[in-house]
Amino acid sequence: MNARYLWRRGGLAVFVFSAPTFLGCAGTDAESAQGAQAEAAWQWSAERLVETANQVRAGRSLQPTEWPNGARVAVLLSFDADNETLSLRTGQPTVGDMSRGEYGGRVGLQRVIALLDRHQIPASFFIPSVSLKLTPAMVDVIGRSGRHEFGIHGWVHETNSTLAEADERELTRRALDEVTEMIGARPVGYRAPSWDFSPYTLDIIRELGFLYDSSLMADDRPYELVAAGQPTGIVELPVEWIQDDAPLFDPRGTRYESPRDVLQVWKDEFDKAYEERTLFLLTMHPHVIGHRSRIVVLEELIDHIRSKPGVWFATHRAAAEYVREQAGMGAARAAAGGSASP
Ligand SMILES: [Zn+2]
Repeated sequence: MNARYLWRRGGLAVFVFSAPTFLGCAGTDAESAQGAQAEAAWQWSAERLVETANQVRAGRSLQPTEWPNGARVAVLLSFDADNETLSLRTGQPTVGDMSRGEYGGRVGLQRVIALLDRHQIPASFFIPSVSLKLTPAMVDVIGRSGRHEFGIHGWVHETNSTLAEADERELTRRALDEVTEMIGARPVGYRAPSWDFSPYTLDIIRELGFLYDSSLMADDRPYELVAAGQPTGIVELPVEWIQDDAPLFDPRGTRYESPRDVLQVWKDEFDKAYEERTLFLLTMHPHVIGHRSRIVVLEELIDHIRSKPGVWFATHRAAAEYVREQAGMGAARAAAGGSASP
C-alpha cells in the first residue's frame, strides 16, 4: 500500500491509500480525480481551503529595476532533456515512445547546441538523472562551451504529487547526488518534472540548498516563494504552458501546431516582456524543439530577440543570483550547504 498526500494542513499531511504503486510510476489525472473524490472541495471549510492555497504561494516580486548592463529584458532559455524518461517513468515504457525520446539526445540536442553556439548565448538544461545516465555524452555536449547550466529535473521524471514525502525526498536527493557526480559540480536550480510541485517540494529543495525553482506560474516576473505565509529565500523563475514547446507542439503526435503559429505566440510574449521590462523564459525539450521545422522557428525567434537593443541572455542561475542581490537577500547561497541565508 502506498500513501500519497491529498492536502496538508498545519504541517500534517492527510493521506489517502491507494493500490500498490512504485517509485517512478507517473500519476494520472484519473488518479488525482479519484483522490479528490474522497471529499468534494465544497465540503471543506473555508479555513481548510485557504490553508491549502497558502501552502506555497508567491511572495514579494523580485523584479529588478533594471537588468545587468542596463538591459530592459532578461531572456532565459531552458531545455529539459527528458528523452527516454518520459516513457520509462510510466513503468510501462514502449520501444516506440522511448525512441521518440532518444531522438532528443541523439539529434535534437545537437541542433540546440549548434544554434546556441551560433549566437553565443547561454541556456539552462534541466535533466533527469536517469536521462543523463542513458546518454552520458550530454555532459560534454552541453558542458563544452562553458556557457550553459545544468539543473535538476527529478530522478526518472517522477510525478511528485503522486509520491509519499519520503519517496520524493529520496528521489530528489538521489538525483542531485548522481547529477553532481556526473557533471562534476553541484547544480543550484530545480525544475519539478512536469512542473508537478507537491506540497513537500518546497521543503525538500530548501533542505537540499537549492538557489531557485523554475516550475510555478504565479507571475511573469521573478518572485520569492512563500510557504504558509513565511518567506523562504527561494527564488522562483516562473514558467507557463504557453511558453513551453511540449503542449504547443504536442509531442504525443495526436495534434499538429504549425511552428509558425507557435513562433507568433512566442514573439508576442517576448515583445510584451520587452515593453514591460521584465522576463522572458522559454521551456523547451530537445526531442520536441530539435526537429527541423521547429529549430528553424526557434532561430527566427532568437534573431527577432537579438534585433532589439537591451536584451540580457542569461542562465537561470545568473538571473536568480542577480535578482537575489538586487532584492537585498544577500549573496547567493552555497548549494553544498543547505541552510538558508537571510
Ligand atoms: Zn520534463
